[in-house]
Amino acid sequence: MTNVQTIGILGGGQLGRMLSVAASRLGLKTHIYEPSANPPAGHVADAVTTASYDDAAALQAFAASVDVITFEFENIPTSALDLLESIRPIHPPRGALATSQDRLTEKTFLQCLGLQTAPFADVQNAEDLAKAIAEIGTPAILKTRTMGYDGKGQAQIMSPADADAALADMAGASAILEGFVNFSHEVSVIGARSADGAVSCFDPGENVHVNGILRTTTVPAKLTPSQRTDAVLIAARILNALDYVGVMGLELFVTPQGLIVNEIAPRVHNSGHWTQNGCTIDQFEQHIRAVAGWPLGDGSRHSDVVMENLIGDDMDKLADLAKTNAAIHLYGKSEVKAGRKMGHVNYIKKGA
Ligand code: AMP
Repeated sequence: MTNVQTIGILGGGQLGRMLSVAASRLGLKTHIYEPSANPPAGHVADAVTTASYDDAAALQAFAASVDVITFEFENIPTSALDLLESIRPIHPPRGALATSQDRLTEKTFLQCLGLQTAPFADVQNAEDLAKAIAEIGTPAILKTRTMGYDGKGQAQIMSPADADAALADMAGASAILEGFVNFSHEVSVIGARSADGAVSCFDPGENVHVNGILRTTTVPAKLTPSQRTDAVLIAARILNALDYVGVMGLELFVTPQGLIVNEIAPRVHNSGHWTQNGCTIDQFEQHIRAVAGWPLGDGSRHSDVVMENLIGDDMDKLADLAKTNAAIHLYGKSEVKAGRKMGHVNYIKKGA
């Protein structure tokens, strides 16, 4: 159908692993590039390069061995991307990655599209922060502009007196102050766009976070029909604006004032893991299809699903879970650590 035979994946975590499994079902090969040894994706990929992102020779050999390059995490050094892109195409596009890597760029982009975000301000120093607090008010959250994930690099500011401590938490990094959004719940849309511009979104899921880490995703989400349409239209709008190819995760806050965009992730997303057992074509296959130049598949939801992450000691429940009819997905990580995502389970509730 296309000439793509081998997909290069930057990052060897669980997302790269599940992308590799999806690729192999379509008869495609994957090559993982990952600095740390024995990555979860390496167990199921056709090839693994263990090298750092500043190893030009390794990056060149990796790019030359694949037909197209994608990634499973966002914090890839620009110099590595520049080198790789001079050899092979990268999907999703660099622009999407750059937009999502920096919370200030991301929020500015979303506002330019006419979408609602939390009020925000750029914070470089104590003076900026005092001004931002005066404008936005409290409660608010100070977040590092880059490199934050799973609630890391964030400090709550309940009153102006918390400002100094919050700024100290940023450890000198550029930050953004966000007004606190009073949401009733959080939902996400996993959207896909193919090279020819077709868009297909999975049904929105409702997310519960504990200590900043996703705990469960439930489909269907609590949304009115018009909110559900809005959520999908927002995702499609963003995908088109970024000339996107691949799968994107979009996190939204549900408020009486409508849906407020929290953030975009230019990759397959933890809150889309339910699609593995709730849809004919899951998010991983949809991403592989898009980056390989295939048409998108049927991502409509056939079942109600609750996805629950297995984090750290949750692995102790495995023997009991294995006796239920929950669909178990483990990532093959050798060491259990507190807060580490070890796997997830999908509970199928009923036919949709
Ligand atoms: P983030 O890393 O930006 O996705 O934030 C992690 C979690 O913190 C979100 O899923 C929300 O539960 C919460 N959060 C982040 N930003 C805000 C905000 N502006 N207002 C209220 N809650 C937030």
